[in-house]
Amino acid sequence: MSLIAQRMSHLGTENAFKLGDDIQRCVDRGMDVIRFNLGAPDFRSAPHLNRVASEALDAGNSGYCDPAGILPFREAVAAHVSRTRGVEVTPGRVVVTPGAKPPIGYTLQTYVDEGDEVIYPSPGFPIYESWVRFARAVPVPLLLSDERDFAFTADDLAELITRRTKVIILCSPSNPTGGVLSREDLAGIAALVRERCRPDVRIYADEIYEHILFDGLEHESIMSHEGMPERTVLASGHSKGFAMTGWRLGWAILPTEEEAGIFKQLNINIMSCVPPFLQEAGAAAYEDPESAVQVEQMVREFERRRDWVVPALNGVPGVRCRLPKGAFYVFPDVSGMCERLGVYDAWARLPAEARGRATPAAILQMFLLYRYGVASMDRASFGRIGAEGQDFLRLSIANSMEDIRRGVERIGEAAEDDGGFAEFADSEDFKGLFG
Ligand code: PLP
Repeated sequence: MSLIAQRMSHLGTENAFKLGDDIQRCVDRGMDVIRFNLGAPDFRSAPHLNRVASEALDAGNSGYCDPAGILPFREAVAAHVSRTRGVEVTPGRVVVTPGAKPPIGYTLQTYVDEGDEVIYPSPGFPIYESWVRFARAVPVPLLLSDERDFAFTADDLAELITRRTKVIILCSPSNPTGGVLSREDLAGIAALVRERCRPDVRIYADEIYEHILFDGLEHESIMSHEGMPERTVLASGHSKGFAMTGWRLGWAILPTEEEAGIFKQLNINIMSCVPPFLQEAGAAAYEDPESAVQVEQMVREFERRRDWVVPALNGVPGVRCRLPKGAFYVFPDVSGMCERLGVYDAWARLPAEARGRATPAAILQMFLLYRYGVASMDRASFGRIGAEGQDFLRLSIANSMEDIRRGVERIGEAAEDDGGFAEFADSEDFKGLFG
């Protein structure tokens, strides 16, 4: 018998949070670190929403509430989804969760038995692969490639669907690629699901970036397609679009009230309920017209930053960056930079076991952090299975324009510093990080 249960060895993590220790180490050494790692808007939650929450607290709304979520918030969510996805959703199918992350684990626990197959995008949000493995399901990554603009077609998905497929995860706009599924893409996927999947197969539609689209694009959802409302778990929330990451306000729409009852039961088992005074502000976010004005301003600012940062990164030797269509990340291919600096050679010299743990992009990530004070995320942080040979970094542009400019300047200097990299590859830092 061991102290820690076996199952914990299967649980993954989100490195964007884990990197905090390395960043702190650099800060303790007096470095000024530019944090491109975390996906949190650099905007504050809007004053009109803060006011609703504090007034609700003052009014005494500070006790337990319905574990599914307070009715006014569930009504507001149902009305928002009915309007934006063009389908009728009732509050009885809405469950409020602390952020949009819990519905991922809830979905895996609710629908998936050991040995069932789960298809998910890779690169994709790391918590998908983490929960798939923790549930002892079979991970089936849908590998997206730069050459194809990180897009995929129904034909690509068709190749992965088998009789054991139980859940198919979609994420649009995507973290980390910024890719967006069009109405036609989604129509093709819906037709495929109707044709090839049993009615008990569930689509998990992660639409947490639903408000953050560029170039005049409108958000499209799989929910809007025939046969999908009865098969889709749609999850979103307030973290990204309303700049409320710390509020922990999210929700899921379930295909039936019975399934919503299971999510509610999971809430009861884990945290009873989401604080009711926060949910009051959550409802106001959809109902007060001021919200749309604030969201629009923030999204236009992200677009302005994207329009600056992509050409600037493409000007750095060894970096190739596509234009994301949504979310607030850029995801450049840094294989040329790894080549120039000698990262591949340093990686090849690692002991076999360390090579299995680290990718060349992770080495470059740490060089940028420990020597240039630029915190980023490597490709393998967005799904390990199938990440070999893909050297990308994710940079969050939810940072001030000034920090973005300084960060890109530092990356440009690092790209020319093969001597600095050789010294880093020989350093105690490197040994501590990569063994
Ligand atoms: N889904 C995706 C694709 C994300 O990028 C994130 C956060 O980074 C989440 C879900 C979790 O969102 P929340 O902070 O609301 O739990």
